[in-house]
Order: sequence, then C-alpha cells, then structure tokens
Amino acid sequence: MEKLIPLINKLQEVFSRTKVQFSVNLPQIVVVGGQSSGKSSVLESIVGLDFLPRGTNIVTRRPIIIQLTHTPYADKAWAEFTHRPNEKYFDFSKVKEEIDMDTNKLCGTNKDISPTPILLKIYSRSVVDLTLVDLPGITKIPTGDQPHDIELRIADLINKFITPKTAIIMAVCAANVDLANSDALKMARRVDPLGERTIGVITKIDLMDEGTNALDLLSGKVYPLKLGYVGVVCRSQKDILNQKTIEDALKSEEKFFKTSSVYYPYSSRLGVNYLAHNLNMIIVSHIKKNLPEIRSQITCLLFQKDKELRALQLFKDDSSNESQLILNVIAKFAAQYSEFIEGKFVKETAS
Ligand code: GDP
Ligand code: MG
Repeated sequence: MEKLIPLINKLQEVFSRTKVQFSVNLPQIVVVGGQSSGKSSVLESIVGLDFLPRGTNIVTRRPIIIQLTHTPYADKAWAEFTHRPNEKYFDFSKVKEEIDMDTNKLCGTNKDISPTPILLKIYSRSVVDLTLVDLPGITKIPTGDQPHDIELRIADLINKFITPKTAIIMAVCAANVDLANSDALKMARRVDPLGERTIGVITKIDLMDEGTNALDLLSGKVYPLKLGYVGVVCRSQKDILNQKTIEDALKSEEKFFKTSSVYYPYSSRLGVNYLAHNLNMIIVSHIKKNLPEIRSQITCLLFQKDKELRALQLFKDDSSNESQLILNVIAKFAAQYSEFIEGKFVKETAS
C-alpha cells in the first residue's frame, strides 16, 4: 500500500513536465482558506521547515504542489523543483527565493496569479508521505495594483482544483473567526455539499477569547464533516520574529493541548503531527477508492496519444519524439497501475 503515493506523485510529475494537456484528475489534498487563516503556517509545520515565502499580501500566486517523501536514512532534508532538474536545495531559504522568482517570472511582480503549478519535492526523514497543493488565499478586495477581478480569478482557480471528486479539500479556518463566515467552508460546501471529502483544520486555537473554546467546532456540531476536524496551534507572528523554530513550536503545541483542562482529554487527536498522519491515511484510502477510475482515464489517454502519434509520424513532425517519450512514460505507468490493481484484486478475492 505504501507504494501508492509515490505512484501518484510520479504521474503528477510526468503530467507537469509535459506541455501536453491531460484530463486525468489525480487524488490530491488541496489546501484552501482565507488570507491569514494560517495555511502557510500549517503547511510549514507539517513539513517541519520554513520553506514558503511570507508576507502580508497574497504571497502564493501559483498553485504549489508539494510532494513529501519520507526518507528515513537522509541526514539532511532537501528539496527539488521539477522546473530545475538536477538541482538539490539543502538551504530552504533558497527554496523560498526560487518559489518567488519562478512566480514572478510567470505572473509578473504586480500580484497577479496563474493556474500553472510549481512542483516542489521535499525529502526528509521527519515527513510522512503526502502530497499537498497550496493555493492562493481567498481574497475579498483587490489591493495595490492587483487586477480588479482578482477575487473572481482566485475563486476560479480554487474551484478548478477542488471540483474534481478526486480532490480532498483541507479547509483551513481560524478559531477566532466565526465558522459561519469561513470562506474555505463556503467554497468547499459548493463542490462537496455533503461534506464527504473535506477535512477541517482549525488554527489559532490559542487566540480564542478567554472563556470560549473550540470543542463544538472540533466535534462537528457547528458544521459536520465526515472526515472531521483537527485543531492546531502554530507559530504566532511574534514567534516568527523571535525566530522560534518549528521543532520548538511543535513542542509548545503539544504542551498547550496536554496542559489544557479543556483539550487534554482529546489531545491524542489534536495537533499538527496527528493532522499529518491522519491526512496520510485519508489520501491512501482515497487513492485506493479512485484507482479503477484513474486506470480507465489513463487507458483512454494512452489510446488517444497513440493515435495522435501515428498521425504525427505520417508527417514526420519534430514533436513526434517528445510525443513518443510521453507515450512511453504513460504506458509504463499504465502497466504499473494494472499490476497494482490486479495484484490487489487477486489478494482481495483470495481473502
Ligand atoms: P495564510 O495567509 O493563510 O498563509 O496565513 P499565515 O500562515 O501566513 O498566518 C497568518 C498569521 O497568523 C501569521 O502571522 C502567523 O504567525 C499567525 N498564525 C498562524 N497560525 C497561528 C496559530 O495557530 N496561533 C497564533 N497565535 N498565530 C498563528
Ligand atoms: Mg500564506
């Protein structure tokens, strides 16, 4: 079963490397939330490293597909970008710079957005296998020199990622903002009205008014979700200014929940570490559920590309080499899928 995530990651990489448009929707966890709801903080805590550009305005202006690979024997974590093959980044401040540079290259510096993803791979012994897609935060009012229709364009982009049934929506909501006003849940509800593939993440639990707590939110009494809610406490702005490490922040989070008379009984199901393991289980079972559909989409794609290639070869077009390459790669993965699915079915029918 542990081979499932790498297989999907490889497909994602093949699709992102090629300029050809594919219509295969791969299972992935898509992070949505309003600006400043704590998306970057949660993602960085899951990864255990500072690697996302920070700022007060919209910072994430392209989808960032973050593939995490658990690498038990690696002494040091490193990152790679698909658009910079053969380069390994051990310094994560350079990862931030590269995300910024490649964003500016495509979207300009005027806070515009683009739907073309950046694919970032992170290898570390302290991550679980997981693929997360970070998207621009939901915004209301254009600021500075932002295009006037930025709100609609961001909503379109988010919808494009969360509409396919293969997407798990991770809706990030701050505990100190009324859940009824949560933009993330509003967007999720439109495409997943029964709350079957949305997981809620409640951030900033430490910032709630004294005398109030998040238990009703976390238990789903306010807005039920089948995948439930996880409460987290990440670094405050002051912690970041004081250069508190994520490792220390994770320890403080654990202490916060374990020493709280309200949260203590539930502390094994709270916090970023629990969230990461929970997400890993959710995505693995989601991939399993979606494999037959993915397989049939890939088989269709294979057939279609094979036909196109034959037509190209008739004309001896220059692009036939690239197409042949793509076809070979997809064929290889289609074969691996078949092996996997058939293996699985044999096991299931035998047991
Ligand atoms: P994003 O815009 O959704 O990516 O939000 P950020 O992750 O950048 O967070 C916005 C601000 O909230 C930052 O100053 C964070 O330090 C702060 N923040 C995020 N999560 C928490 C939390 O759990 N507790 C506290 N006190 N501050 C948080
Ligand atoms: Mg952010």
